Parts: sequence; structure tokens; C-alpha cells
Amino acid sequence: MHKASTIREDGLYHSFCGLVSVGWLYQKIKDSFFLILGTHTCAHLLQNTLGVMIFARPRFAVSLLEEADLSSSQPDISAQIEEIKREHHPSVIFLLSSCTPEVMKVEFEGLAASVSTPEVPVLFVPASGLDYTFSQSEDSVLQALIPFCPPAPPEDKRVVFLGSVNDAIADDFSLEAARLGIPVAGFLPASHFTELPPIGPGTIIAPLQPYLHKTATQLRNERGCTVLSSLFPFGPDGTRRFWEDLAAQFGMKVDLSDREAAAWERIKRHTDLLRGKKIFFASDTLMELPLARFLKACGAEVVECSTPYINRRFHAAELAALEGVRLVEQANFHRQLRTIAETKPDLIISNIITTNPLVGQGVVAKWGTEYCFLPIHGWAGVNALVTSFTRALERHAKLDPLGSDPIWLTGMMPSSPGGVISLQS
Ligand code: SF4
Repeated sequence: MHKASTIREDGLYHSFCGLVSVGWLYQKIKDSFFLILGTHTCAHLLQNTLGVMIFARPRFAVSLLEEADLSSSQPDISAQIEEIKREHHPSVIFLLSSCTPEVMKVEFEGLAASVSTPEVPVLFVPASGLDYTFSQSEDSVLQALIPFCPPAPPEDKRVVFLGSVNDAIADDFSLEAARLGIPVAGFLPASHFTELPPIGPGTIIAPLQPYLHKTATQLRNERGCTVLSSLFPFGPDGTRRFWEDLAAQFGMKVDLSDREAAAWERIKRHTDLLRGKKIFFASDTLMELPLARFLKACGAEVVECSTPYINRRFHAAELAALEGVRLVEQANFHRQLRTIAETKPDLIISNIITTNPLVGQGVVAKWGTEYCFLPIHGWAGVNALVTSFTRALERHAKLDPLGSDPIWLTGMMPSSPGGVISLQS
């Protein structure tokens, strides 16, 4: 397989905290509770980013550390754990680390073990913003769940879909597998802790999300299962390859070319709009490779695709499909601003920290964050995926009084006196 060349910069990328995956995982695993041992900063992050109201009783909380707690390598959280059990009756509690206690060397493994019981396990999840970007904490949560997946005998040859997707998308994958005659053992994560799928040497792990390489590798090493190497199921091109490659694992040769052609035809109005548009990825969700590949298949010109981390084995098929695209790992944001000013992209997919300043300069930019929450997988997700890009372009076209003359060009130039972002720094 062709190896796409990538550039690794100096790591001065602006990445968002790994705690955020709590926002979708607590909704996905319905009998879970997520407890973060953190500070007011972490509490503000979760409250503001996830839009949580105090009376919504979400199944996550921050146990606020005081100075005195940090003198011990094991703060006492037993009272909070008992309260969580009393109020929420979870089947499992995830204990997430954060920056301050990690710096202060809190011994999380031992802390989780000290409050864990066979009835309600408390599982340590490394997730701090120091080490993990955005979606990577889902990888840590799923790794913590592996010991609770029952073993499956070698003759049990079924697929386990890997990655959190909402229930409607999960149903769509179950129905499609049934239609193709592919036997399904379940999803990791399942909707309930008590429904985790059996996994063994006969299991085919089919990753739905591009940020779960640690879980996939651990399953391959510990359970001897096969990890599907294919495109991720985004867009008509990715979805067709995903299902055809998965069927091949079960000895079936299926041709979904008609299905793919029909899906492209349904979104033709949108691909017509995207064709020839310059798109720049500067986001940090680890979903950048498959999203860029989909846009390339739409006929867009991907000027640059930056992402915090590339795994050559887990992302091999996406890298091959992105041949010719400039791929940057851990991009330097200041260099990116210069490239943006030079290449003048029509749309920038940016992260939650940098999008608003870019928009303030008149750039058409949208949050990459959204893609972690949107139902964009499989055949059912094609429309939501393509419209997420074209809506941003169409909205800007309606708002921009200068029509095709981008107003941001002047604001982004180094000589701009009042620019929010300085290209000279
Ligand atoms: Fe900030 Fe670290 Fe807390 Fe994340 S874990 S909100 S980066 S202090």
C-alpha cells in the first residue's frame, strides 16, 4: 500500500482538552457515571462546553480538589462515590484524571481500586488535557472496558463495531450488516455496561471512529482478534469500502458500486458546491483524515490537512486515499496562519479555540468539534456529513456583502493594525 508522506511540526498546536468525550460517552453508556478529579477549570470547561444546566442532573461531575487534597497521593473520594451510587445507581463509574492531580502525582490506579466493588466497578481513565487531545479520552474509556467484555471462543466469528455512535446510527449499522449477511456480536461501547460484546480470536473489530487505535491494538494483542483495515465509514466512498472490506473478512464478495453511485447522486447539489473549493483542516478531533478524504472525493481541493496524531497502521487506508494532500501532524498554528493567508482557503475546519478569532477576521471557519457529535456515519449519515460543510459556505455567501471577494484577506495580512491574530509573532 502507498505510504502518504506527512510532515511533523513542532507540536505547538492548539489542542482542546481530552475530558470533552464525557459529553457524548455519558449519553451513550446509559448506566454509567463519569467522575472527574479536577479543579474549577475542569468544571468550567464541562459546564460551558457541554452547556450543562445544574438542574439537568447529568451523569457526570467534577470532584473539586482543594489544596489540602493534593498533599496526599490518594485523596478521599469515598463520600462522593457513595453519593453517586445513591443518587444515580450506575453499573460502572469512570474516574477521570485531569492536569493538576496528574502533576501532583495522584496515584489514580490505586485510588480507583480503593473505591471499586464487584457490584459497581470504578475504572481509572487517563484523560487529562496534558496528554490527551479532545477525542482521545474515548480511547482510554474503551480500554478500561476491555476486561469486562466476555471472552468468545475461536469459532465465534462475528463483528464488533468499535466506537461510540448514537443509537440511530448503531441501528443503521446493525440493519446494514443483517442485509449483507454479516453476523454482529455488538458494539464497543454498548448502550449499557451490562451488554458489552463477547470478544475472542474469531472477532472482527470494525472501527467506526478514527481515534481508537489504542483500544484496537490492545484487543488485537490481548484477545487475538482481527482489526479491519479499511476506510472509516464516512461518506459514500468510505462507507462502500468499509462494508465491502468487512464482508470480505467473512468470505463474501459484495459490490456496492450502485449503492455508492446512488448516494453521490442524492447529494449532487452539495458536491457541485464543494467541487474546486479550497478546504483547510486545522482542527484537533483526530477525525481530520477521513473528513479530508471525503472532501477530496467530493472534488474539493484539500489545501492542508493537519491533525494532532497519525497512526500509520490504523490510518493506512485513509493515508493511501489522501495521496497528494499535504498532511501535517501537530501543526504549528503560526505557520498555519501564514499558509492560510497565502492559499486563501474557502473554508477552514478549525478547533474550538481558534475558530472564533478566524471568523473575526472574516474567514469562513467552522468548529471541527461538531463532527464528534454529528450523526455522520454510514449510508444514513451521508446527508448530515455533506451539509455540515455546505451550510457553512452557503451561510457565509448570504452574509458576505462583498460576494466572492473575501473580506478576510486584508484582516489576515501581517500589516493589519487591528488584527486579532498576529502573523508576526
Ligand atoms: Fe484544563 Fe487540564 Fe482540566 Fe482539561 S484537564 S479542563 S486541560 S485543567
